[in-house]
Amino acid sequence: MSDYDYDLFVIGAGSGGTRASRVAAAHGAKVAVAEEYRVGGTCVIRGCVPKKLLVYGAHFAEDLKDAKRFGWQVPDECEFDWKTLRDNVMEEVDRINGAYTDTLESQGVEIIHQRATVSGPNEVTLADGTKKTAGKILIAVGAHPSVPTCPGHEHGITSNEAFHLEAVPKRVLIAGAGYIANEFAGIFHQLGAHVILINRTKEILRGYDQAIRDRLLQISLMKGLEFRFDATFEGIEKGEDGCLTVSMSGHEPVTVDLVMFATGRVPNTEGLGLETAGVELDEKGAVKVDEDNRSSCDSIFAVGDVTNRVQLTPVAIREGQAFADTFFGDKPTRVDYGCIPAAVFSHPPLAGVGMTESEAKQKLGSVRVYSSDFRPMKNVLAGRDERALYKMVCDGETDRVVGIHMIGPDCAEIIQAAAVCVKAGLTKAQFDETVALHPTMAEELVLMR
Ligand code: NDP
Repeated sequence: MSDYDYDLFVIGAGSGGTRASRVAAAHGAKVAVAEEYRVGGTCVIRGCVPKKLLVYGAHFAEDLKDAKRFGWQVPDECEFDWKTLRDNVMEEVDRINGAYTDTLESQGVEIIHQRATVSGPNEVTLADGTKKTAGKILIAVGAHPSVPTCPGHEHGITSNEAFHLEAVPKRVLIAGAGYIANEFAGIFHQLGAHVILINRTKEILRGYDQAIRDRLLQISLMKGLEFRFDATFEGIEKGEDGCLTVSMSGHEPVTVDLVMFATGRVPNTEGLGLETAGVELDEKGAVKVDEDNRSSCDSIFAVGDVTNRVQLTPVAIREGQAFADTFFGDKPTRVDYGCIPAAVFSHPPLAGVGMTESEAKQKLGSVRVYSSDFRPMKNVLAGRDERALYKMVCDGETDRVVGIHMIGPDCAEIIQAAAVCVKAGLTKAQFDETVALHPTMAEELVLMR
C-alpha cells in the first residue's frame, strides 16, 4: 500500500496528460488528473481539431469555384454563414471533449476540475486549498500563445479567441509567419477577409525546406495575401469606429478590423509552484527533463508542450505513453524523435519529414536532390494556376532518402506514408522500384528525377 493519496497525479488533461493518465491507470496505478479548463487540452479544444475543421470549411470557397469547371451549376456568389461553421465546429469539439472524459473515467482516473499547483516534491494544492499527495507528479500543462508587450496589445486576439468570433472580419492582420499565422491566413482569406501577415524577419515557416516555403509565399501572394517582412510590432491604436491601426518598424501603419498574434507559444509554468520542489526550468520557462521525462526533482515528470521539445500533439501523446509504460507498466520506453513528420494546413498545405536540403548539406556534405514540380490534374481542369512541388533529399554516398518535402493538395495525407519509408531508411532506388499508382499526386514520389 502506498502512503500517498495517488500513485500518479497529473496536472493538465491535454493530449500528453490524458494519455499518461489512462495508460498508467490501465497498468493498475491509482491516478488523478487535474484540469482547470476542459479535458482535451489545446489540440482538442482550441488547436488542431477545430483548426482543421475550419480549414475544411474554408476550402469550400475554392472548391465551389472549381466545381463550375466540373459541370456543377454554382452561383457566382455563394453565401457563407460563419456562425453555422463556428457552432458546428464547437459541437464537434464538445463531442470529442466528452469522449476524452469518458475514456479517462472508464479507466478509473479521477478527474478533478480545478487548477492544481505543485507544493512539494510529492504534493499538489488544488484551487480550493485541498492538498493531495502522490508518488509521482506529471506536469502536462501545455503552453499558451505569446503576445508582444507593445502598447495596445490588448486589442489583439490569439488563435484561442479566433474560434469564437462573432463574424469574419473584413481586414485581418496576423503577427507572425509560422504555423498558426499561415494556417489562419488561409482560413480568413478563403472566408473572404483581406489578410496581411507581418513578421520580424524575412522568413516564413522557419525550419521547413526553403523551396517549399518559397512556393507557399508565391501562391499566397498570387491569391492576394499581403506580407510585410522585417517589421517589428510597435503598437495598436483603437479608433472610435473600432478599427485597429497597427504601427510597425520599416513600414507604413495599417488599419484593420482584427489583429491576431501568432508569435509562438510559451510553456505554462508561471505560478505552477515548481520552485517548491526544485524543478528547473530553461530560459524559455520550459520544464527541463531527461530522456525519461524526469525533471530535476526525482518524483516530478513533464511531457508535451510544457517541455518545449517538439510542440506537436502526437509527440506529447508518445511522451505520455512512454512515461506511463516506463514507470507504471514495467516497460521502459523512450520516445524516438527522429523523422517526425509535420504539416502546415495552409492553403495549399505543405508537409515535410527528415532533413531539409540545407540541413542535409550541412550534416552530410554530399547530397542529391530530386524534385517534381507539377500542376495537379484537378487544378489543370479547374483552371487554377497553382503548382505542387515535391522534393526528395538523399545522402549522396548511400542513396538513402533523408528528407521528403512537399507542398500541394492533400500533401499532409501523403507525407505520413512517405515518413514510414524515410524512417525505415529506404533508398531512392527502392522508391523507384515501386510501381506508380496512376493517376495520383503521390505517384510523383516514385517518379522523381
Ligand atoms: P511558430 O514558432 O510556428 O511561429 C512563430 C512566428 O512568430 C515566427 O514567424 C516567428 O518569427 C515569430 N515570432 C516569434 N517570436 C516573436 C516575437 N517575440 N515577436 C515577433 N514575432 C515573433 O509558432 P506558432 O505560434 O505559429 O505555433 C506554435 C507552435 O504550435 C508551432 O511551433 C507548432 O509546433 C505548433 N503548431 C503546430 C501545428 C501543426 O502541426 N499543423 C499548427 C499550429 C501550431 P521568426 O521565425 O521569423 O523568428
